[in-house]
Amino acid sequence: MQTITDIRAMQQWADAARLRGQRIGFVPTMGYLHAGHVSLVELARRHADRVVASIFVNPLQFAANQEMDRYPRDLERDTKLLSEAGTDVLFLPSTETMYPQGAQTTVKVERVTQGLCGAARPTHFAGVTTVVAKLFHIVKPHVAVFGRKDFQQLVAIRRMVLDLNMDIEIIGGPIVREADGLAMSSRNAYLSAAERKAALCLSRALATAAAEVEHGIVDGARILDAAQRVIRNEPLARLEYATLADPETLEEVSSVRAPALLALAAHVGKTRLIDNCILSRESTVESREPLGTLNSRL
Ligand code: AMP
Repeated sequence: MQTITDIRAMQQWADAARLRGQRIGFVPTMGYLHAGHVSLVELARRHADRVVASIFVNPLQFAANQEMDRYPRDLERDTKLLSEAGTDVLFLPSTETMYPQGAQTTVKVERVTQGLCGAARPTHFAGVTTVVAKLFHIVKPHVAVFGRKDFQQLVAIRRMVLDLNMDIEIIGGPIVREADGLAMSSRNAYLSAAERKAALCLSRALATAAAEVEHGIVDGARILDAAQRVIRNEPLARLEYATLADPETLEEVSSVRAPALLALAAHVGKTRLIDNCILSRESTVESREPLGTLNSRL
């Protein structure tokens, strides 16, 4: 695996690969990698000839500098994981390289970024779409892979690609979980042993909601109530939101007569965690299970 830090060098690598007729797959990350990230690289491999992964902790998507400064990092381990997963290039730009003095352009997706996580973090998604648009121009991928763990991010990126006519296929990868159900996240590293146990309330809340649907309940308020109760019963957790939404538009819905996204955010101690699943009357599926047709329509 080759590491490239310079934007021009990355673009030249991409141009050469394209000239050879190779399909470029791209997995953007913020590092401190886990099996969820590795699964995205493996997915990218299946859809491309060469795979580029990036590690860039993007200042534009953090509300406070402190939060960004304490973001976990382990470049040595990340490099090993990416290399073993079959990554061809690690793109590793510095903050100064990505945001030179004087930059004044951003990419903002409107409606789909306003609810869910966007309600409490109004500048977050513009930070994400701006850096992803820049990375797309640098890495020049044919296909890019994002995790369904960050479902709203995936929807926002699909919207950006559609609205700005970017010729890039976007693939959503399934949520990878720990054996006990906790969705893998770089932020899980912040959790104390007691918080790690408490964090299970998110996946338990999703499972409780799914069980309601399996029992034939379609009323959104009842389903949300069941999910919220699980989190409220956990003393170390504080619910930020539990929302049922249309998986394509992210507009709130009041029933699961059609497949609905159940998205959760909660603070466990000082750590903000998110999780989600798709609830469907036909079969209650976690969003990690085949949602191919639904996602390709997004
Ligand atoms: P991050 O490094 O947290 O910015 O995440 C980089 C990519 O990995 C994003 O597309 C995330 O949605 C994805 N990702 C993070 N956690 C998981 C997970 N548990 N399963 C699958 N994908 C994930």
